[in-house]
Amino acid sequence: MAALDQKTLIAEMTAWRRDLHAHPEFGFEEKRTSAFVARKLREFGIDEVVEGIGGTGVVGTLRRGTGNRAIALRADMDALRITEQASHGHASQNPGVMHACGHDGHTAMLLGAAKLLAGDGGFDGTVRFVFQPAEEWGKGALAMLDDGLMSRFPFDEIFGLHNMPGLPVGHFETRPGPIMSAEDNFEIVLRGLGGHAARPHGGREVLVAACALVANLQTIVSRRLSPADISVVSVTELITDGTRNALPGFARVLGDARSFRPEVSAEIERQMRIIAEGTALTYNCSAEVAYTREFVPLINDADATEAAIAAARTVFETGAVNGHGEIVTASEDFARFLDHVPGCFVCIGNGEGSAPLHNPSFDFNDDALIHGARFHAAIVRQRLPQA
Ligand SMILES: [Zn+2]
Ligand SMILES: [Zn+2]
Repeated sequence: MAALDQKTLIAEMTAWRRDLHAHPEFGFEEKRTSAFVARKLREFGIDEVVEGIGGTGVVGTLRRGTGNRAIALRADMDALRITEQASHGHASQNPGVMHACGHDGHTAMLLGAAKLLAGDGGFDGTVRFVFQPAEEWGKGALAMLDDGLMSRFPFDEIFGLHNMPGLPVGHFETRPGPIMSAEDNFEIVLRGLGGHAARPHGGREVLVAACALVANLQTIVSRRLSPADISVVSVTELITDGTRNALPGFARVLGDARSFRPEVSAEIERQMRIIAEGTALTYNCSAEVAYTREFVPLINDADATEAAIAAARTVFETGAVNGHGEIVTASEDFARFLDHVPGCFVCIGNGEGSAPLHNPSFDFNDDALIHGARFHAAIVRQRLPQA
């Protein structure tokens, strides 16, 4: 691409990104965002643009040449229920909702790639531009898949990216195999008999039991799972019906568990049930465990990852491509697509000065836009080469 074109594309993507940032929408409510995406795709001359896939999802299809392979590129569009603390001119105009995870940037970069590929081609086959809703809930990818994504818009491989605070702009990171964890949620309800704070022996209060349970749950990872398996069990809430001078007879212990293999997730649940029931018995109360699986682990395909790294080397500077990045114990809805086709998820730098993801001061770094757009285009050209 000529230097002037690149400058124009950067200016355009920056304007789109700031417009999206100023108008954030929560998962499955991305009406303005998806209409914006569909309008831009049509403007670029994308062959087919279909809206309303899995609620507010959009799929654009671009065909060139005669190749029968198809590559999907995915971006997420949703924002978070966080009140922005911004000092810039494109602050959220939707109170209580903000793009604190940079999905505005991901959407703008994929639009940039669509414009690049529609204009310059350079590939032989089909590209599916997949704009998914509700990533933060872990529900949007499944909604698109349940709406017939794979049968209506088939593809052979899928690639996606996320910005990474702390990694310098213009840097790229991924790894083959497990890269992001599964997320499970749990809620343990303890039931006893509340009563007067002065007469604990008159009832079966649950607060001491709940505190013991929180401590005992720490032994799942430290004593019951193999140290070779990465996992996290975090208790995040303890809620009782007690008051200053009344002992609680009811407590809820809630939290979150992360792992990288279904067997480990199953073992965390099994051990949690043993510990909850055993602890409750010790304190003469009862326990009930509700355990749900929200995100599946994200496992990068070895071959697709090799291709992503090779494509990255054509657009990022020497020394800025790390193919052996760290495993992250956060979760990504992109993993759902990998249940159907192989693919690879990558990270691009959002700068060392970036606020953390999900922080009220976070802002996507516009200097990163061109890197993401060029990477998307490069992986398409790598996987759908012209004869
Ligand atoms: Zn997020
Ligand atoms: Zn995100």
